[in-house]
Amino acid sequence: MRSYAFPGDIDERIMSIGSQPFMYMRTDEFSEINKESERILLDLIHCSQGRTIIYTGSGTGAMSAVVENYVKTKNKAIVIDGGSFGHRWFDLCQYYSVPVVHYQVPFAKDIDYDDLERVVADEKPDVFLCQHHETSSGQLFDLQRISDICHKNRVSIVVDVISTFLAEELNMDDLGIDICITSTQKGLNIPPGLSILFLSKNVDGYPFAHNGYYWDFNDNLSNLTRGQTPFSPATILYLQLHERLIQLKEEGGEYVNISSVRHRAGVFRKLCQGYGWPIPAEVPSYAITGFQTKDTKERKIFRGLIEKYQTFIMPGSIPGFYRVSHMGLQSDEELIELAARIREFEEA
Ligand SMILES: *Cc1c(COP(=O)(O)O)cnc(C)c1O
Repeated sequence: MRSYAFPGDIDERIMSIGSQPFMYMRTDEFSEINKESERILLDLIHCSQGRTIIYTGSGTGAMSAVVENYVKTKNKAIVIDGGSFGHRWFDLCQYYSVPVVHYQVPFAKDIDYDDLERVVADEKPDVFLCQHHETSSGQLFDLQRISDICHKNRVSIVVDVISTFLAEELNMDDLGIDICITSTQKGLNIPPGLSILFLSKNVDGYPFAHNGYYWDFNDNLSNLTRGQTPFSPATILYLQLHERLIQLKEEGGEYVNISSVRHRAGVFRKLCQGYGWPIPAEVPSYAITGFQTKDTKERKIFRGLIEKYQTFIMPGSIPGFYRVSHMGLQSDEELIELAARIREFEEA
């Protein structure tokens, strides 16, 4: 089996943790592991003196937590909706009755930042919600420009970096981002099931709201101070996360990982060019390659790859549009083979 869907192929050392006996979680040993994970995570995203909350739950769980605990305390939000993940912020604001400006961006297009700046100045939101990378299309947004606009207008910034953490350069301190969210099945390249919230020192002591028992920030933060979680954690995943973080550190940290993601993206994009598959994203993230094929009727590529080669890629919302993740283990040769197989089914 080969996977170019999230989280991609995973290192064997990490996988093997899942088949071994594991410790009881209400112990000092488990607390130490979690405290070390927090320290490494904060280093990797450059969030000095920040805090993390690690939730048992997928990325959307942490998005929901942010709206329940933080966005709900604000008067008005603005959401960048450039696809299904941006739209999720909008849905969450509506679900929790937060007044929200819906800023739509066409599929695979970049934001018109001058227009955005005018809208922010006019509407005066006090919290800004966006994705770093809209994973449904492959479009990367410019966090420096967003940060400039928000700081000029004194708007708090919350960014879903679920698909760019460890795949794109990201510095929370430099960008002045208040809250970031990620999850385990993307750049961290371990199985799905945990989501991670980064709270910068700017929100230290912030009077968070209490609109959800399970995701409550204060309850989770006070437990995490001693390395524990309020409820049963997915212990194995926490152990896999810790091992992966140690591994990332040993390999040289975030920049080494980012450059290997970038390398794989470069290899696959050359192949796309060769096979004549356009990449619609105006500014594509290195995290995935979203490309347009001629397989617009029957998803022959998707089914064929699974049935003949036990290989997964990700279909998109548009017929013939597919996405290949570059965040899992993959060699140049494997990418060359993958592209040839995609062509095999495109023409079948
Ligand atoms: C994967 C992803 C999510 C989270 O989805 P879950 O299925 O809840 O883990 C959210 N935002 C972005 C940008 C993503 O890529």
